[in-house]
Amino acid sequence: MSEAILPGAIIGILGSGQLGRMTASAARRLGYRVHTLSPGADTPTGHLADREVTAEYDDLNAVADFARGVDVLTFEFENVPAATTECAERYAPVRPAGQVLHVCQNRSREKGFLNGHGFPVTPFRDVDSREALDGAIAALGLPAVLKTAGFGYDGKGQAVIRDAAEVDAAWESIGSDPAVLETLVDFQCEVSVVAARGTDGSFAHWGVVINDHRDHILDVSVPEAPLPAPVRERAVDVARGILEALDVVGVLCVEFFLRADGELMVNELAPRPHNSGHFSFDASVTSQFEQQVRAVCGLPLGSTELLRPAAMVNLLGDLWAAGEPDWSAALGDPQVKLHLYGKSEAKPGRKMGHMVAFGRDHDDARQRALAARAALTR
Ligand code: AMP
Repeated sequence: MSEAILPGAIIGILGSGQLGRMTASAARRLGYRVHTLSPGADTPTGHLADREVTAEYDDLNAVADFARGVDVLTFEFENVPAATTECAERYAPVRPAGQVLHVCQNRSREKGFLNGHGFPVTPFRDVDSREALDGAIAALGLPAVLKTAGFGYDGKGQAVIRDAAEVDAAWESIGSDPAVLETLVDFQCEVSVVAARGTDGSFAHWGVVINDHRDHILDVSVPEAPLPAPVRERAVDVARGILEALDVVGVLCVEFFLRADGELMVNELAPRPHNSGHFSFDASVTSQFEQQVRAVCGLPLGSTELLRPAAMVNLLGDLWAAGEPDWSAALGDPQVKLHLYGKSEAKPGRKMGHMVAFGRDHDDARQRALAARAALTR
């Protein structure tokens, strides 16, 4: 185990959104200082940081300066260029390592890595031309989903192809960029495992979370998915195997499709705290954000035990369509916790905050969370 980076040290976060904000909050509670670098100003992470640097990720002079001023670097935005992490690595440890980012920021590399290591992954083909797309469709059949290989999240850069008439439009809609074609999975549900690995190889996870998406964006997450034990064990085993194979130090989320026949398939990896783990901030002994700090600083991992049945709902910018949501109404249920990310502009689809509700059981918590959200705009 490498030497621990102790409280009082400075954690540098590349990226400045809500994930960095919540990581910064956990880091401050542990007595660390936080610096953040991103192209933005007045950012969700910057609000809680000791220092907010505004620079492009490919401004390597700024990145070098930033890295010289911190004791360890992590990121909350996985599309940081490889040159940025390579530059930063010269001055401070980057955790997880740049190699983890490199694999996870490109769907083609990520799927190739998973497939190559024998992890279950949605059938796919790499597509780099219109002809290759035809070949991929012949191999996989339809319906299928075409996804850009790089810079995709929350359903951006994706097109479903249901029949041959939709192929041209799909290819054009993703901008003819390098892509992967995947089988459209007929899943019974989507689940995720948020897990962490320490510098000593220790492993922790928050169990299997069941996730509902709306318009490709996460909507509701409920921990302790009511699935058969072998399915839950398999999901955690796959997650553990992936963190080990990638030699991750930090938090990584594995998102799965669970097919009707009980087969799990990895949809994608997120090498950082994940939206489906936000419940842990209120509901677990150690949150994913505190765990990220512990892991990247080389401290022992904390317990991931769930304290109470809970559920999380996202708050998207759409809720602002008719003006400021009614926060008092949502908080009228004393079992509801509100998190807002301090973003000034509410755009449709933009993640502005989330709420966690506690309940007698997870169903009750879910109903309370949904009711609180409904109360925001009544
Ligand atoms: P992604 O950006 O790949 O995580 O996709 C966002 C969401 O789109 C997923 O959480 C699913 O709800 C849906 N989706 C993506 N790929 C597939 C697929 N191959 N089959 C079925 N649904 C998919």
